[in-house]
Amino acid sequence: MSDKYEKWRERIEKHDLSHTTGCQAQVDSSCVICYRPAEIMKKEFRRFWKWYREEIPEVTSYSGKTEESFEELMDENFHAVDRTGTEKARMKKRLVWLITSMRYERSPDKTLSELGELICQMVVASEKFTKKRKEARNLYEEYLSSESEGYSTDGSNREQDDSERTRWYEETLTKVIMKHNLDCELGIESKTRDGSCQRCFPIPEGISNNNDFLEFWEWYRKTMDAELFTGETVRIFNGLKAVQFRNRTDINEENFAELTLLVLSMRYSKKPKYDIWEISLEILEILSVSREFGIGIKKAIERIRKEKEIPEDHFR
Ligand SMILES: [Zn+2]
Ligand SMILES: [Zn+2]
Repeated sequence: MSDKYEKWRERIEKHDLSHTTGCQAQVDSSCVICYRPAEIMKKEFRRFWKWYREEIPEVTSYSGKTEESFEELMDENFHAVDRTGTEKARMKKRLVWLITSMRYERSPDKTLSELGELICQMVVASEKFTKKRKEARNLYEEYLSSESEGYSTDGSNREQDDSERTRWYEETLTKVIMKHNLDCELGIESKTRDGSCQRCFPIPEGISNNNDFLEFWEWYRKTMDAELFTGETVRIFNGLKAVQFRNRTDINEENFAELTLLVLSMRYSKKPKYDIWEISLEILEILSVSREFGIGIKKAIERIRKEKEIPEDHFR
């Protein structure tokens, strides 16, 4: 906001003056006389407002338009990854509307796009402010701190176990994808590298001839609810395919890092069911079977599946 604040403050002053002089002025979405806040604050909005006030201490008030813009923003799908240009523009517009419909006593430290990014992150962390504030706040702080290993889980709590398993996914979403997306959309070179960005890593032309990759994608897409891959996915896959994996213990750190990067270079339509390690091991198994028997990826997947089925058949 610091970038736009002065202009904006002038507009507010002019508008406020018009209420005393009776002269018509520009509409101002942050005016509580023109747009009275609702008498009963909605639960989600109350959480948002409490959080925002703590995060941006410069904010002083919100208006009825803020509530309206908040509702509209919550209609957006924050997990969508391949938005069209119009959808992106609409999302950005809604963020700007929300931010500028509040008043600030002085210019916030953050710029308009930083504020937008912050709100996006919190929307995802709090699941659109449906989670209790404390819970969301804890989640959010965990996202921001790099030492998430210290996260304590109660082994008996299934729900917590599940969220632990898919934490990698949420972390990527907030720490990498959203950060990168904002820059990338604005055409700024992002400090956050995102292997799952098709704009940065377009799909190579010869992809229709890369049968192994296509067979892999066919399987992976279904297994992991993946919806998109990039040129980076293809590059890493081709590299890993060339590595000789004799068995699971044979794998070195570098290869494992590549497997992780492979998983992170794709985007998902919903929370995948698997832990990043589990799925990495699956991929590894497929690659090593394919290599060991000199068969394609699809055949390798079938072979592994059959091997796993044999014990059951024996019991029949
Ligand atoms: Zn007014
Ligand atoms: Zn990009």
